[in-house]
Amino acid sequence: MNNTTDLLEHLANLLGRNGVITDAPDIEPYAVDWRKLFPGRPVCVVRPSSSAQVAQVVQACRDAGVPLVPQGGNTGLAGGAVPDVSGTQVVLSLNRMAAVRNVDAVGMTIEAEAGCILKVAQDAAAAAGRLLPISLAAEGSATIGGVVAANAGGVNVLRYGMTRSLVLGLEVVLPDGTIANGLRKLRKDNAGYDWKQLFIGSEGTLGVVTAAVLRLLPRPKHSVTALLSVTDPDAALQLLELAQDELGDQISAFELISRTSLQLVEKHAALKPPIAEGEWFVLIEAASSLAGMREAAEAMLGSAFEREIALDGVIAESGAQAAQLWALREHVTESEAREGKSVKHDVSVPLTAIPRFLVEAGQALAAGAPGTLVNVFGHLGDGNLHYNVLVGARHDADAINRIVHDVVAAYGGSISAEHGIGQYRVGELARYRSPVEMEMARRIKRALDPHGLLNPGKVLLP
Ligand SMILES: Cc1cc2nc3c(=O)[nH]c(=O)nc-3n(C[C@H](O)[C@H](O)[C@H](O)COP(=O)(O)OP(=O)(O)OC[C@H]3O[C@@H](n4cnc5c(N)ncnc54)[C@H](O)[C@@H]3O)c2cc1C
Repeated sequence: MNNTTDLLEHLANLLGRNGVITDAPDIEPYAVDWRKLFPGRPVCVVRPSSSAQVAQVVQACRDAGVPLVPQGGNTGLAGGAVPDVSGTQVVLSLNRMAAVRNVDAVGMTIEAEAGCILKVAQDAAAAAGRLLPISLAAEGSATIGGVVAANAGGVNVLRYGMTRSLVLGLEVVLPDGTIANGLRKLRKDNAGYDWKQLFIGSEGTLGVVTAAVLRLLPRPKHSVTALLSVTDPDAALQLLELAQDELGDQISAFELISRTSLQLVEKHAALKPPIAEGEWFVLIEAASSLAGMREAAEAMLGSAFEREIALDGVIAESGAQAAQLWALREHVTESEAREGKSVKHDVSVPLTAIPRFLVEAGQALAAGAPGTLVNVFGHLGDGNLHYNVLVGARHDADAINRIVHDVVAAYGGSISAEHGIGQYRVGELARYRSPVEMEMARRIKRALDPHGLLNPGKVLLP
């Protein structure tokens, strides 16, 4: 095989005509990322329908020396799932491998194919009375393979951990086209290296995830959702400590929302908080199999007012009201996008450093990028903030990244708490991780993908 036409012919023979997309209008949704920051130009999109077909595609592309870009729901926020503009890369979409293979209510596991939509997997778990706790605003489009490859976080990390903590088994097609089947359902397995960990969060650069076994949890029967306002992030941290004391490990979400975020939501999504006071808002959700959640939340709110930590607050009276409170948080990203161009940061710093980080980053931006507006919201309970800077066209994104990330680094934080590196942060990773860590990463990449054909230019510079 020595040219693109031969490769396309070979791929069509392997997958059938429906399995290979070459027409420009049909390719378009696969070629550009969700934020439309990275428009790419693939040779074609391939849509295998089994792990064996994925392996055949990978082998064919390896033999032709053609790079592959794995793609799930294409909701990633780091430009990791789209090809470059060279016209030489093939997008490998997993969207035809979408089945939930089984749900085991006793063993508390779910096995699903990589292209299975996260919401479909959540619903399958719920139908068996179990909880798949990975939950994020893109869950109606994001896939199991994408969530695993990105090690997605979301709103329940505080209680259940990142995706990594829920993965029991993986099946992966390696860059040489062999299939590594580790679809085990074991909670304890110390037999040798735990190789699946390499692929979780590798953003499609080390292998193609074709199926996963995820851990399920008992489905809480009672939950309570509250929105509180506070004067500043220090008070939000005091509230977190109080909530942990009063609600213990039943807190599943502790989200911080700035007044700026809520103003954007009101402007673009016509949603208003039911409480008015305060510069900062905290959305808390707690859930348990046992009754008494509402009483516990009321006691927590009472203490928060008594100690003058919270200014105002409301506890949802019904599931519908809880959904309305969550809608405020879930519309922030979309409302910000409607407002205009922003330079996004998905950072984590040690929890207790958050108030100082916010002051210092704000001061650094005021000095280095005057006229910008900061929109802060995120998973405060995890020390993870979305620190987005709304900019006029004249502002230089690289300079803004540098300002924010230098403050993050000064506090021992991470430049990517959950969205990953993709192509968006590839230069920044090399700047903020030590040479030893970067060299280890390059050795792992070379060991698994010596020809650099799997998602080149993502995570590591070529
Ligand atoms: C509105 C919105 C809210 C979001 N909220 C959150 C949030 O709270 N927390 C969070 O962590 N993320 C969040 N995200 C980001 C995104 O939804 C997650 O990263 C999600 O895991 C991506 O899944 P996907 O199927 O869309 O993957 P894609 O975007 O298709 O791919 C993501 C990365 O994984 C690779 N990949 C995809 N499938 C495979 C596979 N089968 N094998 C190997 N590699 C693969 C791609 O090459 C790419 O590098 C949000 C996105 C949006 C649009």
